[in-house]
Amino acid sequence: MKTSSQKFLIIFLLAVQSISAQTFIQSYADVVSQVSQTNVTANLTAFENLGVKRRGTAPLQNTLNWLKNKYLSYGYTAGQMVEDSYTNGTYTCKNLILTKIGTVYPNTYVIVCGHYDSITGTGTNDNGSGVVSILEIARLLQNIPTEYSIKFINFSGEEDGLIGSQHYVSSIVNGTTPKMNIRLVFNLDEVGGVAGMTNNTITCEKDTNGTPSTNNAVSATMTDQLITCVGLYSPLNTFLSYAYSSDYMPFQSNNEIITGFFETNETPHKHTATDLLANMDPVYNYKVAKAATGAVMHFAVANPALGRNDFNEDFQVSFFPNPAKDYITINLGLLTEASYQFSLIDTNGKVVSEKVIDHPNQLEKINISSVSKGMYLAVLDANGKKISKKIIID
Ligand SMILES: [Zn+2]
Repeated sequence: MKTSSQKFLIIFLLAVQSISAQTFIQSYADVVSQVSQTNVTANLTAFENLGVKRRGTAPLQNTLNWLKNKYLSYGYTAGQMVEDSYTNGTYTCKNLILTKIGTVYPNTYVIVCGHYDSITGTGTNDNGSGVVSILEIARLLQNIPTEYSIKFINFSGEEDGLIGSQHYVSSIVNGTTPKMNIRLVFNLDEVGGVAGMTNNTITCEKDTNGTPSTNNAVSATMTDQLITCVGLYSPLNTFLSYAYSSDYMPFQSNNEIITGFFETNETPHKHTATDLLANMDPVYNYKVAKAATGAVMHFAVANPALGRNDFNEDFQVSFFPNPAKDYITINLGLLTEASYQFSLIDTNGKVVSEKVIDHPNQLEKINISSVSKGMYLAVLDANGKKISKKIIID
């Protein structure tokens, strides 16, 4: 029989364990170590060469195309990318959304975002620096399963008053019933540092906005976790401040949980023709990308060690929820075939449901309400590429 002091000790130890739960994970550090200074600098150079990315201009569209080609080169498919268009006065602008479906919580999203538009100058720091950080995270996580889904979002219209992110929140996040379920919005804006200064600190931003205030406490918790990630996965120090005036704010107003990165040495070149690579610190940007990669792995609960081979052998195809009731969603993963056949096979080998889907969307919702409860094999056959997984219908 345990004495009360032993009980107390156990409760105390459990409390300590839960406080220190966010520990260093070697497999995360191994991924973070693959963040590339060469890529960061080359992408900053390419971003700068694309010109002034104002609304309604060819450079803005060219930057969008450049981003899409980058994601394709990392192994993502066109089907995983969606353009979200909106009109601002006489201009049509686009946000670009790349979605990676999670393995455990496919309907809950970690949003990693930063704007790609600029004003007056090329915006190499504001916000090429955030863009190239997001590119490195997306590149490294392409073949790593994460429990939560991730949306990598490149917003336009930030410099026009956050109109790209406002449009996204009102028409996409709130555009379905129920609305999109967001675990966290992690915004990266102006993280390039200042040439000639000692750039060794990143500002981590929590929500202190009072309208609404109901999301502030969780933002503070998530920002604490962000600070811990910076310490675990990068050489940078942290400075805690508050979120304002960037693409996380429309999410904040929508009562979502937000956090963000912003440079601590603040560039005097933003929104001018001298916001150039020559005036920033690409080594600092590289360190920020490392910290951000570790943080996204933490928030989306990446699993680099387990299941990586299975995950990719199956073209990242998944069926959810599991157990399923009435509906099942088919995630096309990395397949690009123009059609596929979906079937459900019972334990006697009998096909109980079959459907051919032409020109499939990335996610297809299938009605299975007529199928009896039990264990089945869900099979997706795309031109001979056959993926099968056990599912339970409830
Ligand atoms: Zn910015």
